Amino acid sequence: MIKSILLDLDGTVYHGTDAVPGAAGFVRRVRSEGLDCLFVTNRANRSAQTVCQSLCGMDIECEVGDVLTSAQAAARHLSPGKFFYIGEEPLSQALIEGGHTPTEEAPDYVVVGYDPFINYEKLAKATLLIRAGAQFIGTNPDKVLFTEKGFIPGNGAILAALTASTGMEPVIIGKPERLIIDIALRQLKISPNEALLVGDSIETDVRAGHNAGVPTALILTGVSSRQDLENSDLQPQWVVDDFEELEALIFNS
Ligand SMILES: [Mg+2]
Repeated sequence: MIKSILLDLDGTVYHGTDAVPGAAGFVRRVRSEGLDCLFVTNRANRSAQTVCQSLCGMDIECEVGDVLTSAQAAARHLSPGKFFYIGEEPLSQALIEGGHTPTEEAPDYVVVGYDPFINYEKLAKATLLIRAGAQFIGTNPDKVLFTEKGFIPGNGAILAALTASTGMEPVIIGKPERLIIDIALRQLKISPNEALLVGDSIETDVRAGHNAGVPTALILTGVSSRQDLENSDLQPQWVVDDFEELEALIFNS
């Protein structure tokens, strides 16, 4: 029995500043039926508070505790320690709130998230620290970000640079790895088969569910298409065009 819905954000619940049609009503229905709804995002450069505010601005019911970012998941996964980071302020903030201490000297962890201000100095510093023994952590492995102009480098591209300079592979917290999903399940106090992961990407969301043993629903509102699905070795439990169809499947109505 499904007790909780794990909902992806970008491409699933919204596109930029616009809610996907039916998302607000779906979330309301889920809650009114007594199920939990947790928004799980790979993005580490916006705080849970900011995400929550923007969801509320789209009329999507949300409290701060209903959001799990990859920055928060990193903070919970790592045992308390000192960190150096590449990324934006909300990443550092989430790590500090999770009991970790920022430092430039001999950190336990180098935590790397999407950083639009990445430069050689930051890459050099991170390389030296990882080579000196700091654990190499990536919030999410997304290689590209989609913009109106096309694809631009995402955090995965920054991680690839550091892998080249250190010879080390990062521990990835975000989807499609299972860590962020395991942390979500622990927060909700449910087992994998009591959750349904809903997302728009086969390679990110469906694979994360597969890796964590959580059933998935692919919603065709974002990056993946039916054509992609035909070409994929990975299949979700459900494929739906929109939230209306998903609601009908979940609640048999
Ligand atoms: Mg998405």
